[in-house]
This record gives sequence, C-alpha cells and structure tokens, in this order.
Amino acid sequence: MSDILIIGGGIVGLSSAYYLHKSGHTVTVLDKGDLTDNCSYGNAGMIVPSHFVPLAAPGMVQQGIRWMFNRKSPFYVRPSLNPELVNWGIKFLKHANAGHVSRSAVPLKELNLLSKQLYADLAKEPDFNFELESKGILSMYKTERAAEEEAHLAKAAVELGIDMAVLTAEECRQLQPDLKLDILGAVHFRDDAHLSPPKVMQALLQYLEKGGVKIIRNHEVTKIETSGSKIIRVYTGNTVWNADQYVLATGSWSPAVAKMMDIKVCLMPGKGYSFMEPEPLKRMTIPALLAEARVAITPMNGSIRYSGTMELDRINTRVNMDRVRGIVESVPKYFPDLHPAVPSVEKIWYGFRPSSADGLPYIGRSPKKENLILATGHGMMGMSLGPATGSLVNQIISEQQTDIDIKAFAPARY
Ligand SMILES: Cc1cc2nc3c(=O)[nH]c(=O)nc-3n(C[C@H](O)[C@H](O)[C@H](O)COP(=O)(O)OP(=O)(O)OC[C@H]3O[C@@H](n4cnc5c(N)ncnc54)[C@H](O)[C@@H]3O)c2cc1C
Repeated sequence: MSDILIIGGGIVGLSSAYYLHKSGHTVTVLDKGDLTDNCSYGNAGMIVPSHFVPLAAPGMVQQGIRWMFNRKSPFYVRPSLNPELVNWGIKFLKHANAGHVSRSAVPLKELNLLSKQLYADLAKEPDFNFELESKGILSMYKTERAAEEEAHLAKAAVELGIDMAVLTAEECRQLQPDLKLDILGAVHFRDDAHLSPPKVMQALLQYLEKGGVKIIRNHEVTKIETSGSKIIRVYTGNTVWNADQYVLATGSWSPAVAKMMDIKVCLMPGKGYSFMEPEPLKRMTIPALLAEARVAITPMNGSIRYSGTMELDRINTRVNMDRVRGIVESVPKYFPDLHPAVPSVEKIWYGFRPSSADGLPYIGRSPKKENLILATGHGMMGMSLGPATGSLVNQIISEQQTDIDIKAFAPARY
C-alpha cells in the first residue's frame, strides 16, 4: 500500500480519494480552496452516457463562428493570441472530424456507463443520499434543423446500444405532464440520470474525513520539485508534502500545475454559469436540454437549476450578464410556464470546465514522471465521469487490470 497525494478536491480528486482509500492506500487531498465551490458544485448534475460525441466534432467550428457574433450565444471564444488558446485551437481543429468522433464514441460511452454504475453503487452506501434519479434526460428541440441533428445523434446512439426514444411533443407531454411544452419533439436519452452535485461532494467529503483521509483545504500547490523521472516534493507555500505517488486532479488549473513539473497539459477553461430558482410545485420531473439554446435545466433539491454557456478564455471572475440573460430568455421558449428572473450577480454561480482540445479526458500515468497520474480534462462531462475516473486512478496505482480500455485517454496522445 502506498502514500498518495491528490492535488485538487473536485469530483475527480475526491472520487480518486474514495477508491484509493477503499483499496487501503493512505490518502491526502490538497486543495487551494475551501471545497465548498469548485466546478463540481454548481454544474447541471447530469449523468450523460448520451454524450458520446466529444466537443471536437464536425460542425462545431462553423457553429462557433456564427455564435461569436451574438452577445447572448451559448458559446464564445475570446479572440486572443494567448499561445495556450492558439495551441488548443490548432489541436481542436485537427480533431473536429468524423473519424475522431467515431473513434471516441465507444471509449466515452464505456467510461460514462461505468461511472453511472459506480454512482448507483455509491447511492446504496449509508450517508450517500445525493438525489440520484434515473429517469433519463429529454433533449428538446423546436426547429426542423435541430430535429435532424438530434435524429442523427439518436441513430448513432442506437448503434452504440444506448437506450433512447425519439418522441413527439405529445409523447413528451405524457412524460412531463405538469408543465406546458412548446417544442417540436425530443429525444429521451433513457440511460441518462441526474443528481445533486453539492450533495455528492458533501457526502464524499464526510465519508473521506470520517475514514481518516486528510483533506487539506486552503493550501495552494505553488511549487513541485522533481528529480529525473520522479516527483520528490510538493510545496504549498512553506509547507512541504511528499508521497509515493501523486494524482493531478486540478481541473482547469491543470496546465499551470503541470507546468511546475515541466509537463504540458493542453486544456482551456470553458466558463459556464448556473443559478437556482425555487420551484415549490415541483412540476419538472425529468431534466431537459434545450437543443438550440444549449441550456440545461435540472430539477434539484425542490428547486430548478438553470445552466449553460461556454466561454473559452483565461480563468477570470467576470460575469457576463448578456450570456446569463441568454439562458433566462431561452427557457420560456420551450417551457411557457417557466419564467426564471434574471438573477442578481451574487446569485450567479460560474465554473470552469477543464476542456481538452480533443474533448476526451486525460486519465493515466504521466510518461514524463513515473509517480504521477493525470486525471483531468473532463470538460462538459466531469460530474458524470468522476467516479469512473477515480476508480481507474485507483486501478492504475494498485496495478490492477482497469475495468475499461483507457488508451483513448492517454495523457500523451497528442
Ligand atoms: C455550467 C456548467 C454545467 C455543467 N454541467 C455538467 C453536467 O451536467 N454533467 C457533467 O458531467 N458535467 C458538467 N459540467 C462539467 C463539470 O462540472 C466539470 O467537468 C467537473 O466539475 C470538473 O471536475 P474536476 O474535479 O476535474 O475539477 P474541479 O471541480 O474544478 O476541481 C479542481 C480543484 O483543483 C483545485 N486546485 C486547482 N489548482 C490548485 C493548486 N495549485 N493547488 C491545490 N489545489 C488546486 C481547485 O481549487 C479545485 O477545487 C458542467 C460545468 C459547468 C461550468
């Protein structure tokens, strides 16, 4: 059994701690924050085996360019000569093709299904009540064009063995009877699920701390000392940490932390917003994705969480109210009964999706540092993929056969 130091306490870091601790390793998690509000808290909580198409896909570039000229659009890249963005953009363009989408579908599906099963197992553990519901997700559309795109996706899903149904508006109303719907139809991805992200995070933290895992808050890793092909020490200011093996699970900050070891991790932060609105009538029963607006709506803890937008830029604290208004205004177009108010700035949560250039996570041992495992780059799917990633990290460190083939996620694949 080894001493393991995990840098980063988001869903990926805490899930890794969970499985490593269960295997008998001695685990410490270091985080620069207080673990009440990283990207793993305010997300839409959707568990998405239906997301087998990576962000780098044909059509994204043209769509992205169209959206660049709309202040309220769901996707935005801040034009800049930032070398990290340029490098990311070149790699993204290289991967935005049908071959890459087809090669990624099976690995992404397998990772997602593994994670869904692990969430179901976790929900059976005492003190792990995180509102996991397996009712699927309705991907709703209003236009013929989106209907065609969704039908295309649905066909690919069937080929992959993913459970789904293409529904008319009337069939959707039967599934979601207490809310008016103004849509052309929807795809019901029945393998999908949803949960409350803050509750999962709190349950994991409580379990780990009770079990003796050291969770060190407000300690930012500022320097990493290496010798040859090994990490020998990690510094949080003046405090020194060492371990047998290290896990890099720092989400959107991964390029900066990896740079301390002279390792390149190609990812950009993809900022998104969310806010909660009370919904005392609890009329929404199944989460919805608004296909044209790229907005996610999730019933959560007696309220509704609205989320969306993807701004590729450096990490920053700006709140772009135009884009938040874009989310707000899209909702009644699909759900005429739902009229969320434009939230005040303090009520708007934002987080940074750690978005790799090819849309797949980085999971595996670093080829440069033999005692380092990378677990980052989960982009739009990190909440879904957390447990599977954590379990794989444990299997790698424990030198067990991994549950699924992880070649597609190799950290040095490009
Ligand atoms: C609006 C929105 C909606 C989303 N909806 C969904 C969804 O429905 N389903 C889904 O699967 N995913 C969703 N996501 C994506 C998901 O939230 C992320 O992929 C996931 O939370 C990433 O987890 P992580 O553990 O890699 O990173 P994080 O949660 O960001 O954790 C990284 C941690 O590393 C710490 N850290 C960074 N640098 C250092 C350092 N130097 N020293 C110490 N600690 C450090 C940070 O403080 C942070 O706590 C959404 C994201 C957004 C923004």
